Amino acid sequence: MADCLFCRIVAGEIPATVVRDGEHTLTFRDIAPQAPSHLLVVSREHVENAAALAEADPGLLAELIREGAAAAGAEGFAAAGYRLVFNTGADAGQTVFHVHLHVLGGGPLGHFGTPES
Ligand code: 5GP
Ligand code: ZN
Repeated sequence: MADCLFCRIVAGEIPATVVRDGEHTLTFRDIAPQAPSHLLVVSREHVENAAALAEADPGLLAELIREGAAAAGAEGFAAAGYRLVFNTGADAGQTVFHVHLHVLGGGPLGHFGTPES
């Protein structure tokens, strides 16, 4: 999709700090990290969100998670622990409607899921 930010990063039209370059996925650093290490794993193909990807291609959804786990290993925090997040829809804070797995780690993480007051 021409006007999709992550399609443009996958196409190399917008620069990103890529940490893993897979056949079906790309993993790069989030521009506004919410943890000491904050990576995004995206599908090369445009799909709106994780639920849509689960319907369209469950194997690719699993590959996103495998890539996230591999990135956690490469970053050195696989054993210590990390958080995998798919924001899905506006109330969850999804701002880019191209499926992406957040990989957060590198130190103890705070609680999550609290409604905004
Ligand atoms: P969402 O809020 O949709 O779950 O996550 C989108 C993420 O993309 C956010 O964490 C945001 O910081 C990140 N982001 C937005 N624009 C860019 C960009 O141009 N480059 C990179 N690397 N990350 C971005
Ligand atoms: Zn896209």
